[in-house]
Amino acid sequence: MTGGAGYRIGLAANRLHIDGPGSALARLLRESRRAIVEHLEPELVVVGRTLDAIEQQGLLDGYHRLQRFPYGREGGLMRLVSRVVVDDPARRLDAVIYLIDPVDPSSTFPEAVALKRQCIIHGKPFLSTLAGAREWFELEAMAAGAAPDPALDPLFDLQGDSIALIAHDALKGQMLALVEKHFALFDRFGTRYATGTTGGLLNGLAMRIKGEAAGRHWVRPLRSGPLGGDAQIAELILDRQCRRTLFLEDPHVARQHEADIQLLERAARTLTDYASCVTDLKFAERWCSLMARRVTAAG
Ligand code: PGA
Repeated sequence: MTGGAGYRIGLAANRLHIDGPGSALARLLRESRRAIVEHLEPELVVVGRTLDAIEQQGLLDGYHRLQRFPYGREGGLMRLVSRVVVDDPARRLDAVIYLIDPVDPSSTFPEAVALKRQCIIHGKPFLSTLAGAREWFELEAMAAGAAPDPALDPLFDLQGDSIALIAHDALKGQMLALVEKHFALFDRFGTRYATGTTGGLLNGLAMRIKGEAAGRHWVRPLRSGPLGGDAQIAELILDRQCRRTLFLEDPHVARQHEADIQLLERAARTLTDYASCVTDLKFAERWCSLMARRVTAAG
């Protein structure tokens, strides 16, 4: 490991996101180039076709910390899953960026689903949208000592933005602890949405912290998740009314509303340059701390 945070990052993108200079992949590597090349210097483990596109378009010219993984049809994505869970520090991935096109059937293949699930289980960031990946590079570069990129300041003016907060039952306690610890950050958002039960609990917390009157409607609770709350949040995302989602998913239980959960994420991926999801507790903790610093820097 050299330089920066010494991260090893798995990188893949569906076909729609690798073609041409306006693609999500090209935009990510252009807009995050300084963070990648100068500050983080991660080893990028890149699935075949995605690396072909990087080379053909000269997206990371001069950058040598690239490792070629097989093409998707030869098991490249399947191998990434195993690298998320392995202990060996010489092979282990610290994060995965998989720019997903929700209408590409391969984005629903078992390896794609398992990749995200194992990232959640092992507490590693899984970034499936351009907006999420770009934000992550900005925050991690700042943590590695970079000055904030002023071009991104508008993204960190949270007054005009919303966040959706969702926690499955086993993680509701952790959601409350997380929001309490980082209350000032969440309080900066113009609007907070949540699924029903999570929202009720968060309003209880807000009443404790801000007093009854100010806290009662701190979060706007939608329907409970199993009764369609995820679908309501999906529509808010599709309407560009909710840029960020913090979803503490329980990967260890069968979820009767699995389709709704997937629907919500697919909505975010439909607006790849706008929406992002944080889906595990460890990532959420770090995200909150770094966001609080970045938001302060944006003034
Ligand atoms: P809830 O929904 O906040 O209403 O419990 C979350 C879920 O379980 O999907």
